[in-house]
Amino acid sequence: MSASAPERLSVAELGRALAERQWSSVELTKHLLARITAQHELGCFLHVDEATALEAAAAADARRAAGDTTTLLGVPVAHKDIFVTRDAPTTAGSKMLAGYRSPFDATVVARLREAGMVSLGKLNCDEFAMGSANENSAYAPVRNPWDRSRVPGGSAAAVAARLVPAATGTDTGGSIRQPASFSGVTGIKPTYGVCSRYGMIAFASSLDQAGVLARTAEDCALLLGTMSGFDARDATSAERPPQDYMAKLHQAQVEGSAARPLNGLRIGLPREFFPATLDRDVHDAVRGALAEMEKLGARLVDVSLPRTELSIPVYYIIAPAEASSNLSRYDGVRYGHRAAQYDDLLDMYRKTRAEGFGAEVKRRVMIGTYVLSHGYYDAYYLQAQKLRRMIADDFQAAFRDCDLLAGPVAPSVAWRLGEQGDDPVKAYLADIFTLPASLAGLPGMSVPAGCGEGGLPVGLQLIGNYFDEARLLRAAHALQQATDWHLAVPAGV
Ligand code: GLN
Repeated sequence: MSASAPERLSVAELGRALAERQWSSVELTKHLLARITAQHELGCFLHVDEATALEAAAAADARRAAGDTTTLLGVPVAHKDIFVTRDAPTTAGSKMLAGYRSPFDATVVARLREAGMVSLGKLNCDEFAMGSANENSAYAPVRNPWDRSRVPGGSAAAVAARLVPAATGTDTGGSIRQPASFSGVTGIKPTYGVCSRYGMIAFASSLDQAGVLARTAEDCALLLGTMSGFDARDATSAERPPQDYMAKLHQAQVEGSAARPLNGLRIGLPREFFPATLDRDVHDAVRGALAEMEKLGARLVDVSLPRTELSIPVYYIIAPAEASSNLSRYDGVRYGHRAAQYDDLLDMYRKTRAEGFGAEVKRRVMIGTYVLSHGYYDAYYLQAQKLRRMIADDFQAAFRDCDLLAGPVAPSVAWRLGEQGDDPVKAYLADIFTLPASLAGLPGMSVPAGCGEGGLPVGLQLIGNYFDEARLLRAAHALQQATDWHLAVPAGV
């Protein structure tokens, strides 16, 4: 393998290097598999199958030898263990699904596989995606490559540690954007409905959306363009023509030029996203990135999302309500864990679920069951649904004055493993800036914006209007062409 450190290259660069026969996909795959083994203690992967990965790489090399020029051909990827895969077990980070094998691939996985991407394995995640910092996995917490005593949030750690150039993720209330922010990588959660949920293990179906974690906005555009698009197997899939985000990446904004590619772009800053309580380091990093966007021609305007604070109680009613319903399928009958000993059917259900689910999942199932129960439904669930609509309306009011919204992703840099103690509400509160867009179903990105306390990464959040992913990606790409925050590598990686 040549000395030019392939793990430092982006997906786009790797695609070109493979096309130029700098290495074969088999060589590249072996190189990254060795890195995964060496960085085992980060806890990024739940499953790696070297033989299967090398087989896929050899098949990609054969396709290339036969004249196939697909951009992603032979480039490694890894999937959050929420996506079912036929060539690897899928656990959703839960003991409930230990050893479960799906007979089919999630649509997102299948589309990347058809494009020739080589899956290196399945990435650790919070149990059934409940959490964002990856402390709730039933298997092991993931460590942040920037500081191993800190949380990273799922798939992002593997991308930050240069174990894989890009990964799939899912974002129900922030689990692509917050991990990207904590780990210094670029992540996009598209509009609800852009990526198929078929084969994505359900947490909260009206919020769950697949997306990408990578090192650059360009790579996000490449992968998103391949994995998105209508899927008849998902009833909530958006019926829209396929998008070539790559082609749109280089188009200037309204009257942009190479020097001022963001000319004419109005970026709205919701005042509720910059409260006095926001950590100073996060505030300064976000402001620094926005100043760069201004230099590129963007205009900053003040807007308001008045119900931002309410998004926490609203989300933490709706998401558990949907989870309690979705997770009722884990009953020990059809698949997954079943208690070894029980007296009767009810006892089997009870023991299976008591043994199979971890504390956070049980908490959510109980909250969800409570808010949906007779007598509380109107007081909690119905009220939350009404507020959800108002939160979405607030965004539309804000978009009358701007094209994109910007702010921090999280109120702080990554916290220490275990720092939240036994208080789950502390972690819930850290979702304040990601939940509004999730509730509205809007696309959002986290883009590296430099460092805060302890040299830890800070992400700039960009939120677009419905189906405006191309504009989001273009703005992030322009910022990355002018700055190098996204190129920072953790020490020792
Ligand atoms: N932190 C949020 C939660 O715990 C979001 C999780 C997610 O997006 N998967 O529910």
